[in-house]
Amino acid sequence: MKSKLAILGGDKVIKNPLKKFNRIGTEEIHAVNDVLKSGNLSSFIGDWEPDFFGGRKVLEFEEAWSNYFNVKHSITVNSWTSGLICAVGALDIEPGDEVIIPTWTMAASASCVLVWNAIPVFTDIDQRTFNIDPKKIEEKITSRTKAILSVDIFGLPADMDAIMSIAKKHNLKVISDTAQAPGALYKNKKAGTISHIGGFSLNYHKHIHTGEGGVIVTDDDDLAFRMKLIRNHADAVAGGKKMEKINNLIGFNFRLGEIECAIGIEQLKKLDSIIASRVHAANRLTEGIKDLEGLTSPFIPNGSTHVYYNYPLLVDEKKLGISAKNICLALSAEGFSCGNSYINVHKYPTYQKKIAYGMGGYPWKIGSKISNVNYNENQHKVAESYSRGEGYIGADFCNYEFDDSEIDLYIRCIQKVWDNLSELKNL
Ligand SMILES: *Cc1c(COP(=O)(O)O)cnc(C)c1O
Repeated sequence: MKSKLAILGGDKVIKNPLKKFNRIGTEEIHAVNDVLKSGNLSSFIGDWEPDFFGGRKVLEFEEAWSNYFNVKHSITVNSWTSGLICAVGALDIEPGDEVIIPTWTMAASASCVLVWNAIPVFTDIDQRTFNIDPKKIEEKITSRTKAILSVDIFGLPADMDAIMSIAKKHNLKVISDTAQAPGALYKNKKAGTISHIGGFSLNYHKHIHTGEGGVIVTDDDDLAFRMKLIRNHADAVAGGKKMEKINNLIGFNFRLGEIECAIGIEQLKKLDSIIASRVHAANRLTEGIKDLEGLTSPFIPNGSTHVYYNYPLLVDEKKLGISAKNICLALSAEGFSCGNSYINVHKYPTYQKKIAYGMGGYPWKIGSKISNVNYNENQHKVAESYSRGEGYIGADFCNYEFDDSEIDLYIRCIQKVWDNLSELKNL
């Protein structure tokens, strides 16, 4: 006998909330205690001394990060939002220049461009990977385009070969926002290390964290140096170094403390096992739902790995005659943690009203320079329709520590909803 859906008054499949993932263990506690006992919680100094580059734990963490990601430079920052600001600032961006960004991402992937008075130009995503669609990049390139900021959304690397070849052809720089995909692979290279600059968030929502924090990576000595300056009061020190190229050397304080770096050192050691457990859980879920009609589990291109910050499902609404929205509501009622929308940054009021600085429409209007970039709706078909919930369900994956029995409960939720699909027609 079919069991009654929870949304229609039946019993829930998952009666008790699943346990949230706590990434902090005794290793982190000991590491923090050692820093506290040393009395030295930060050594950064905004002046030309060795400590300009940070204290003992900062340097140790950066070295460990560089070893793991196989890059020349890792630069810790107090958030990946700060890291993105450093990255854009290091690229010789002029006010009014344009940076191409997928609209299906988090606010900071675009606000980092506005910070430098440059213009975010949004583009659409691929329907299967949810990452920037390389086929749609070139039509957005103008004489003002300086960079592409691609995002490895949900834990899957973007199509880097295609992106890097477009960038090379048009002489553009590429920044990878790899906040959601630490440790994911693209053709045996770690996501974030293929573009000119990449980087990661250590915010508590992410795979590994230090509460707040971020790490920028690059193989380019000059970019690395400029980003370290922006991190630490650039304008106050550029003169002391007798630097000639001082454009965009406006300094912030984006420094990460010794405590966070001590935690980060321990967290990084756990990243591989955290990824392995996410992948194990995702594979079990994928296997468990593979025979269900009209439901597609995450697409993984050949040569890439997925680290499942989120587990995106696609629902064939036409075939089933049921909306993903109703399926998501039914799943949630069973205790399955999911949502069926994600951000479209171009819809934010800052972009719709084209006002970032003051009331005069800056930076879209700077003197006689007027940007004709538009943020109209209906130009990013895939991202906009998924964002309205059409065909898309995202299962929240990073916040839980799924064991096999919990994943089996998830499979039962989906199975139960599929057994009762027709009842979801007229919710
Ligand atoms: C989390 C996140 C950021 C911002 O990172 P913070 O460390 O929270 O500033 C940027 N981009 C994406 C895609 C993210 O998921």
